[in-house]
Amino acid sequence: MPKNDHIYNCYAPPPEEFVRGEGVYLYTEGGGKYLDFIAGIAVNGLGHNHPALVGALKEQAGQLWHLSNMFKVKGQVELAQKYCAASFADKVFFTNSGAEAVECALKTARRCQFVEGRPERVEIITCKGAFHGRTFATINAGGNPKYLEGFGPALPGFVNVEFGDMDAIKAAITDKTAAILMEPVQGEGGVRALPVQFLKDVRALCDEHGLLLIYDEVQSGAGRTGKLFAHQWADGDADPDIMAIAKGMGGGFPMGACLATKRAAEGMVVGPHGSTYGGGPLAMSVASAVFDELTDPELMASVNKTANFMTQQFERLKQAHPDVVEDVRGKGLLVGMKLKKKALDVRNLARVHKLLVGNAGDNVLRMAPPLIINEDNVREAVAVLDKVFTQAKDMADFSG
Ligand SMILES: *Cc1c(COP(=O)(O)O)cnc(C)c1O
Repeated sequence: MPKNDHIYNCYAPPPEEFVRGEGVYLYTEGGGKYLDFIAGIAVNGLGHNHPALVGALKEQAGQLWHLSNMFKVKGQVELAQKYCAASFADKVFFTNSGAEAVECALKTARRCQFVEGRPERVEIITCKGAFHGRTFATINAGGNPKYLEGFGPALPGFVNVEFGDMDAIKAAITDKTAAILMEPVQGEGGVRALPVQFLKDVRALCDEHGLLLIYDEVQSGAGRTGKLFAHQWADGDADPDIMAIAKGMGGGFPMGACLATKRAAEGMVVGPHGSTYGGGPLAMSVASAVFDELTDPELMASVNKTANFMTQQFERLKQAHPDVVEDVRGKGLLVGMKLKKKALDVRNLARVHKLLVGNAGDNVLRMAPPLIINEDNVREAVAVLDKVFTQAKDMADFSG
């Protein structure tokens, strides 16, 4: 095996190499079997090697891979139609990633204020602990100092306020404000869900001040919380004007989208925006198959049932391991456990016991299993975590 001298040192993968996936399990060359409770960071919502997705990709692969948006792309209109019928949106722009979807959302918001005669309204209010991607605009939107350090001057136009603090949002609104951007459930920031009432209040605030409400549902969308989108728990009373989605919508095929109301998207015409790859034939065929699976009511019913069971089990783990677990949080199958020991060390120990989990900010162990898991899979994970937390008692406490 060649030494890894030539890849950017931006990642620190463990020694295991996975070569195959089936449902909720990943396999190494040597046949090691791992229960996947992170699903490519909330991407493989339908698990690995799903027959409908494999079929859609194979079929399209034998027909046409790429055209660019110079030409009509088969499947775009149909997929946009599906997403609009299932959401607040009237218009869709397809991207290749979550960060690009957020970029499009930010551009859409400013452009809407511009074409409506308010070009001075450029500021976007964002939340502390947010994660919106790694491009220049999205690291500035996220505001995490660790992701901004060394990359030159901060971009103007972003105002970062305390997460979940309505007074802070109100105080940040000026006559230059264009929009408020938030994740209904913060993923990277520590798996923190905003209460439904808070989303409704922000919606009302946006209406009062003529601001656009942008959700980043890159992680919380695609059925992750037991509804197609997390904000839909507000039953239409907290709909955004613009929304970025990605991760789970491609089921593992890299893609994303920006959804918007007709009004919000009015300024996005020929010229101001575009993409070479966005909305390509391969992405469209896979994402269409993903959408059909995600909108099967039986799948969402199962997500809600399994999520309830999982949360109950995690609460029991918390009671059994008060030295290790501080808090259980999240929504649906996006669940975090805030730990008293180092989450990264606990994550690594779980992997040794063949359970794959993630971590997130605020010293949180993050779980985002495929949506197709059942209660037996949860029991298997809980048994491993029980063992891991017992061993973790001897670890040094986490200190900031
Ligand atoms: C992952 C993520 C992004 C960025 O998506 P990429 O595909 O990595 O660019 C943006 N927002 C949220 C909430 C995410 O979880």
